[in-house]
Amino acid sequence: MRWSEYLLPTLKETPADAEVVSHQLMMRAGMIRKVAAGIYNYMPFGLRSIRKVETIVREELDRAGAIEVLMPMANPAELWQESGRWEKYGKELLRFKDRKDADFCMGPTHEEVVTDIVRNTVRSYRQLPLNLYQIQTKFRDEIRPRFGLMRGREFIMKDAYSFDLDDAGADASYTKMYQAYRRIFARCGLKFRAVEADSGAIGGSFSHEFMVLAESGEDGIVSCDSCEYAANVEKAEIRMGDVVTPAAAEELRKVETPARKTIEDVALFLETSPQRLVKTLIVETDTDETVAVLLRGDRELNEIKLAHRLGCTWITLAPEEKVLKVTGAPSGFAGPVGLKVRILADLEVQGMADFITGANEKDTHFAGVNLGRDFTVDTFADLRQAVNGDPCPRCGGKLESWRGIEVGHVFKLGTKYSESMGATVLDDQGKDRTLVMGCYGIGIGRTVASAIEQNHDENGIIFPLPIAPFHVVVTMVNPNDDSVRDAAEKLYADLQAAGVETLLDDRDERPGSKFKDADLIGIPLRVTVGARGLKEGNLELQERQSGERTLLPVGEAATLLVEQVRAALAAR
Ligand code: ATP
Ligand code: MG
Repeated sequence: MRWSEYLLPTLKETPADAEVVSHQLMMRAGMIRKVAAGIYNYMPFGLRSIRKVETIVREELDRAGAIEVLMPMANPAELWQESGRWEKYGKELLRFKDRKDADFCMGPTHEEVVTDIVRNTVRSYRQLPLNLYQIQTKFRDEIRPRFGLMRGREFIMKDAYSFDLDDAGADASYTKMYQAYRRIFARCGLKFRAVEADSGAIGGSFSHEFMVLAESGEDGIVSCDSCEYAANVEKAEIRMGDVVTPAAAEELRKVETPARKTIEDVALFLETSPQRLVKTLIVETDTDETVAVLLRGDRELNEIKLAHRLGCTWITLAPEEKVLKVTGAPSGFAGPVGLKVRILADLEVQGMADFITGANEKDTHFAGVNLGRDFTVDTFADLRQAVNGDPCPRCGGKLESWRGIEVGHVFKLGTKYSESMGATVLDDQGKDRTLVMGCYGIGIGRTVASAIEQNHDENGIIFPLPIAPFHVVVTMVNPNDDSVRDAAEKLYADLQAAGVETLLDDRDERPGSKFKDADLIGIPLRVTVGARGLKEGNLELQERQSGERTLLPVGEAATLLVEQVRAALAAR
């Protein structure tokens, strides 16, 4: 592609409404343009990267035995009523009526439509296992569309759905997809982790999220430094050996803590560390229960673990009035001694003695508090958030913590849709069996955005070569110099002929601004063709990632570049 004939509208300034780096750079590199909130044009340069990810996804899913289909964006309400989601899905589902006043929605995901295909076309267990996938545009009316393609309302997703006769078959399909996903993100050139994810309070089924590691990620994850274990912090278990409660050494006593409400303030004031404190959180559930939760002072509550333990869907910290009612004191002074609600405590608290807690009285704490003697706990459980350095629950190694962006999700669905929609097959005994399903998603645009979030510097994008819009940019220092133009055109033709995707910067602009643009758009290999180098018989290669420069003899340049690109693509 010749830059002078291409549509690559780069921007010098960062758009004011772009908060995260990937969104800023995708705008500045002319990859996307906004049409409405969460709705974007994929501009030619951005589309090339999107297509690269799609191709990798297709190749790996085909290899794993999945079959491509394409389902409609417009879904009739009837299918969604059958599954019960027409009522349940809420406002993310964009609903509309056709001219005959029939209800429709834009598909945010396609379990209903795919289950309808399968119940109408698959009759026998002999046709299983079956895995259908599509790469298609989804619509979700997200409450807060943001960060460009990261959380759009209209976005491209690969969604796949597996159908098996039984649980064991479904597990095998799941494993295949899990492995295909690992290959996909590795081939995209991304640093990622496959983490065990929370699969909701109903539990039982399993689920992994594929996380691209990036500081700006919305999700906290932990992974073991010596085994394969990785999990979302929402889910990460903390393994404690047998916990023995130490004997009490101190008497229970009141201490004044005027206006000291936070753990840090109290610890500072009493000249001790937060680890010597136990914090008491008053929590309300969606099932209208109020409980107290105890954690070591420096720990954070894991709300999801607590909700699972309580068998409710969500929990929230009680409002001030409730705290006052339950403890008799303003918030900041709650403690377990004399408390009348159910008390749950994190396992770590079980190993503590002579600690400090609130005294359920304004400006007052207790010191020398001890389990059993001063209060009793109803349930000890793993309730805290895992942190860097915690022991791995599988092998005892050390957990490292990361931020991640969820780009893919594999999920064992079970019979939720097949049952409500009557998707059955005949087994080898001629008996009707309800199909066991799995569903598997990858956000294509989000993958490109995450790749940029993970790979950039102050000058712009640094594309991993496998998903770069072009492999090489050939920059003519001065396109009006015949020797420069001829050498660049020749290299361009040779590279194109060898299948190396090349952008020829033949624009009549100052070299400085062309180099700036090249850095901004992040093509992995840049070759500079200038009169001075040519006199010596050389072109200059600069790698975008390392910044390393090497001289390429004109006669060998094309061959060397072709080799380098092929090696980079094969390395995955
Ligand atoms: P999130 O928690 O980020 O909302 P989700 O659980 O709703 O994600 P899934 O329904 O599992 O996501 O969708 C599969 C994949 O589609 C996600 O892993 C993500 O990569 C992508 N995706 C989901 N919502 C969006 C969106 N609004 N914009 C872009 N990609 C999205
Ligand atoms: Mg969502």
